[in-house]
Amino acid sequence: MNILIFGPNGSGKGTQGAIVQKKFGVPHIETGVIFRENISKGTELGTKAKSYIDKGELVPDGITIPMILNRLKADDCLKGWLLDGFPRNLAQAEALWQALQKEKIKLDYVIEIVLDRKTAKKRIMGRRLCATDNNHPNNIFIDAIKPTEKDGKIVCRVCGSDKLTTRADDQDEAAIDKRHGIYYDSQTGTMAAVNFFRDKTRVIEISGLPGVKEVTEDLLKKLK
Ligand code: AMP
Repeated sequence: MNILIFGPNGSGKGTQGAIVQKKFGVPHIETGVIFRENISKGTELGTKAKSYIDKGELVPDGITIPMILNRLKADDCLKGWLLDGFPRNLAQAEALWQALQKEKIKLDYVIEIVLDRKTAKKRIMGRRLCATDNNHPNNIFIDAIKPTEKDGKIVCRVCGSDKLTTRADDQDEAAIDKRHGIYYDSQTGTMAAVNFFRDKTRVIEISGLPGVKEVTEDLLKKLK
């Protein structure tokens, strides 16, 4: 099963992505996570990517496109993948589509979580990351995934880890606005990529506005 998931930063894409990953048992490949892992390990890729990420700009296509196309060739992708955060612009969408056509790989689902900019921004600022597992979503502004409290400390609602952190680019309004500017850009940005796929295949639209549970129910119903 090969799946793309789109949605503005803060739309619950990561949360729903974790559910889709469980349902189909495919690797959840998140470009942002790959970059952040490289930054924390101090790799050359991480060093190159950091300055762009800190400002909320896209890491150049010359770095991102080959990185993802290579990742899709790894053994764990033989039974499929869930791609999250890529493609993020029209050029990436075209490059992915070309690579899939060349390898005769079918795109099974394209999911778009639809959410307005203002709500998405608030949710970004409430996001907390679990250092133990990236698929443990926590958000202080969303009841369904609010971190829990233990001994006066805020801990991960899934595993109880007290290693909950925020991302610097999630607390920087200018960086958030830049990321959203790229997302909602229907000329060359992410919406242009979504529209590119709308011409090729069916795009499953899900409203990200209701609670996590309702969004999941809607998504699972439409994935049947
Ligand atoms: P995310 O975790 O999806 O919010 O991504 C964090 C940051 O990683 C973005 O603001 C970009 O700087 C970078 N990034 C993630 N995905 C891509 C992509 N497909 N192309 C270029 N840069 C990306």
